[in-house]
Amino acid sequence: MVKSVMCETITSTLASKIQSQFPLLNNHQNPLKLCYLDTAATSQKPHCVIDAMNEYYHTYNSNVHRAAHQLSARATVDYEKVRNDLVTFINARTRQEIIFTHGTTESLNMLAYGLESTFSAGDLILIDSAAHHANIVPWQQLAQRTGAFVKAIPLDQDFNLDLIGYQKLLKLRPKLVAISHVTNALGTVNPVSQIISLAKTANAITVVDGAQAIAHTSVDVSELDCDFYAFSGHKMYGPTGVGILYGKTEKLAQLTPMLTGGEMIKTVSFDNTIFGELPNRLEAGTPPISEVIGLGAAIKFMNQYFTKEHQDEEKQLLNYLQFSLAELDDIEIYASNENNLGVVSFNVKGEHHQDVGILLDQQGIAIRCGHHCAMPLMDLMKINGCCRVSIGLYTTKVDIDCFIDALKQVQQLLK
Ligand code: PLP
Repeated sequence: MVKSVMCETITSTLASKIQSQFPLLNNHQNPLKLCYLDTAATSQKPHCVIDAMNEYYHTYNSNVHRAAHQLSARATVDYEKVRNDLVTFINARTRQEIIFTHGTTESLNMLAYGLESTFSAGDLILIDSAAHHANIVPWQQLAQRTGAFVKAIPLDQDFNLDLIGYQKLLKLRPKLVAISHVTNALGTVNPVSQIISLAKTANAITVVDGAQAIAHTSVDVSELDCDFYAFSGHKMYGPTGVGILYGKTEKLAQLTPMLTGGEMIKTVSFDNTIFGELPNRLEAGTPPISEVIGLGAAIKFMNQYFTKEHQDEEKQLLNYLQFSLAELDDIEIYASNENNLGVVSFNVKGEHHQDVGILLDQQGIAIRCGHHCAMPLMDLMKINGCCRVSIGLYTTKVDIDCFIDALKQVQQLLK
């Protein structure tokens, strides 16, 4: 009943219009129409992003910040403009708060390294039990180097963060709390505002991994009031190789630079080096210039298309996906609830997730199978992996229907 009502109301009109802007989704050389449902791993790129990077390489390829010539001046203006665009995009306060990295992983490692001198033996780091390895391993390494220790915030029976358990852990006065905004394996939206304000009562540094949130919800770092927020360009329709570390100016200023060398200095002599000011202080070496320019185009794209209307459409589509999956026999859906963003994970009962993924691929359906870089979560769920379907601005109802039809065939084949 619910499904039939949904079928009538789901239109995905906006997504259908947008799909034509993604060349890979319109590659007709492939005999099977691609049904791309792996956006959480990396999103497809619209023409405007590819064109912006091409234009840079074709017409003004040069290094930023350092030359007297016009090409470099143009590259520098375009590169630095993206920093301004990001200030607006995530509602930071100043340009100094935006550090370009190569991705979320680097941003989080930069933090774990940069904060080391402020950690001592016995300090506690709280992490999210459903976190991506990128928000676990750097903290474990920091703990190993300093004698600090890591504890995981427990999850409830639906694999949502257990706020009561969290508050108990806060009594131990953690030095740092690192959480995911949206989890990558299950798409669970964490109550980040609440987690951050509770962390502040314990005086903890707050770190948010926004890799899965940035393309599915509006992020306002000033409102969240977190100390640090990390994300990757390639999950938000931009290129690979560029990421962001947002931090409050005074917090970024405390970080020991992970990389040192050119660009990040004020003066260098054989006796002494004085580091430069933010943001350059944390951006040693030649940055990912074309990637930042591509990210600028992705932000423009998102500003144009990632409207409230489109966010609602995406949410409805995800609900439709959950309902459609739930109607099939022998499917175990994980953490399926109204609160998910971007992702639905499942297993076909009694079948290996890889087999399901490979058989779907043979029908042109691209999904991700495995532990999703969340092995501790898989252990808690008592599974060794699962299938993950993830959607983006370009995903239509037709894509979901194709996936469901293909999955029915897979179930037949595996019988
Ligand atoms: N954090 C989350 C929640 C992710 O989903 C990912 C990537 O899938 C990462 C961190 C790592 O991002 P990247 O590989 O772009 O550094």
